Amino acid sequence: MPLQSSLRGPADLHTHSSISDGTETPGELVRAAAAAGLGTVALTDHDTTAGWPEAMVAAPEVGVNLIPGMELSTRHNGMSVHMLAYLFDPSNPALLAETERIRVARKTRAAEIVENIRVDYDLTWEDVLAQTTSGASIGRPHIADALVARGHSTDRSAAFDTILHPRSGYIIPLYAPDPIVAIRMIREAGGVPVIAHPATGTRGRLIPEDVVAEMVEAGLFGMEIDHRENTPEGKSWLRALAARYNLVLTGSSDYHGAGKPNRLGENTTPSAVVDAIVSEATGFAPIIAG
Ligand code: AMP
Ligand code: ZN
Ligand code: FE
Ligand code: FE
Repeated sequence: MPLQSSLRGPADLHTHSSISDGTETPGELVRAAAAAGLGTVALTDHDTTAGWPEAMVAAPEVGVNLIPGMELSTRHNGMSVHMLAYLFDPSNPALLAETERIRVARKTRAAEIVENIRVDYDLTWEDVLAQTTSGASIGRPHIADALVARGHSTDRSAAFDTILHPRSGYIIPLYAPDPIVAIRMIREAGGVPVIAHPATGTRGRLIPEDVVAEMVEAGLFGMEIDHRENTPEGKSWLRALAARYNLVLTGSSDYHGAGKPNRLGENTTPSAVVDAIVSEATGFAPIIAG
């Protein structure tokens, strides 16, 4: 039986606006998605849904389908695991409370990192705030922008390679829930959980298979395979896992505007997978622009 609401491609299911650490407003991002020739785009800011309303207005105006989402910060055994969540109820109390907790922790952590950095570099908390929009989900990219503004780094990437590197001595970890807890929360809110960039070389170890099995048990639906930071060996591993645990595989850009070299549509998700995600969701409907 044909699906009723097959979303037009190409589909890019992972992007960030200035509501977190991207450089374009949600409206600008949606317009950029249309200009890049995308048929469907997901907005997945870190730990916040504050960009949804603006993106939901802009998407029909430019004829792009919108999948509202989020990239939820989680941590397993000291390893940072980013969990993409699609089409959940944004007013779900448990999810609201947890994302609020993470955003508060983001701010406290960023302020502490700045305190560490200013022992060696001229940098103030006001410098960092000047790089964020009000209420934004703060992260190291905003500290990077402040370092660039002060002339300590040439761009975000250079800042991440040096002062903001996890082993620079200045960085402290972010509070984040366990991925199993996060997956259950996303499902409770009617959303669809997909692990973001699970096989990056730069971010250390791979998730142990028994933990992946537990995640599947908790409701994991898919894994992001086509992402520029997943290694070739990592992708083979993800393909094998997907077959073993019946998970969908997505592809996306992880666009951050001018904040990263990643371009909209550089990786995309097959329409059958997009439709499967939409069919699985019960928390929120995609914005269909035609
Ligand atoms: P945080 O949220 O504070 O842990 O910072 C992580 C964010 O920094 C992620 O969203 C990444 O997209 C971004 N990031 C990591 N490495 C780089 C880099 N080399 N250049 C620009 N952004 C980066
Ligand atoms: Zn980011
Ligand atoms: Fe991420
Ligand atoms: Fe991301």
